[in-house]
Amino acid sequence: GTEGARFAPADDEVLKYIHASGSHLIVEKASEKNLRIGFKRMNVDNFFVSALKSKGEILGFIKLDKEKGYAFSEFEVKTMDMLLARITGLLENLRLYERIKRQATEDGLTGLFNHMTFQEKLEAAMAAGRDSEKGTYLALMDIDHFKKFNDDFGHQEGDRVLKRFAAALKEISARHAGTFPARYGGEEFVLVMENRSLREAERIAEEIRAYSEENLRGGDEKEKRKITVSIGLAGTDRAKIPRAIIKNADEALYMAKQEGRNRVMVFS
Ligand code: GH3
Ligand code: MG
Ligand code: MG
Repeated sequence: GTEGARFAPADDEVLKYIHASGSHLIVEKASEKNLRIGFKRMNVDNFFVSALKSKGEILGFIKLDKEKGYAFSEFEVKTMDMLLARITGLLENLRLYERIKRQATEDGLTGLFNHMTFQEKLEAAMAAGRDSEKGTYLALMDIDHFKKFNDDFGHQEGDRVLKRFAAALKEISARHAGTFPARYGGEEFVLVMENRSLREAERIAEEIRAYSEENLRGGDEKEKRKITVSIGLAGTDRAKIPRAIIKNADEALYMAKQEGRNRVMVFS
């Protein structure tokens, strides 16, 4: 509102007042009232303080000051209120945009990138690595016997396993620069590995597989079941377009399942 109160509380009370009222506050002759508002400067005596507030939440504060003998005019105050309302609106839009962008690029359950973002990452990685000696590799991961796990322990416990696997994948990825984890869909995940040799990519895939075997568990009080993952690995050594690499990784994954699961298979 434009009807700012004119009194002289202490510093944090100023902010508290603004927070509660949703209005601005004008403090005049601060020096006479022995008030400290923020930094102290010679000759500054009149303050206009207001909050950028959105749906009850403070986004920020703004403080303007004037020298001794110069008060804020009604026009200035109205202009400031109007500008602050506009800025608040813009900040709300920015936050909304960021939320929608996150929802569009991330998977809701695991917080990993979603399928669409993975596709973009793979394309970008391949384009960026076109002239490099090393390659772009894709690990396609599928949790073993997950249907049975859901049947035995319930879908909710299954979801918890997916979240735990995703968290581990994120952590392992963070330790290897130039790798991007995503949820491919269902109980399938991917890791794009940029600027790697086949040997290097294989080592990272093996690290993920071993992590699952050694650490990933799920179940109930009666049984803690070991969760393993099968991984198909393919890269630019054998294919030059993203679609072909995904197809090759899928074939290698199929082979990994055929060979007995809980293993990394390289497409050849
Ligand atoms: P395999 O070792 O051959 O991969 O066997 P599998 O049972 O894991 O493979 P299948 O593709 O037959 O089944 C995948 C199961 O994953 C089916 C489905 O119930 C489960 N699943 C897929 N998405 C989700 C999910 O978001 N949450 C849970 N809890 N389960 C999921
Ligand atoms: Mg599957
Ligand atoms: Mg599976």
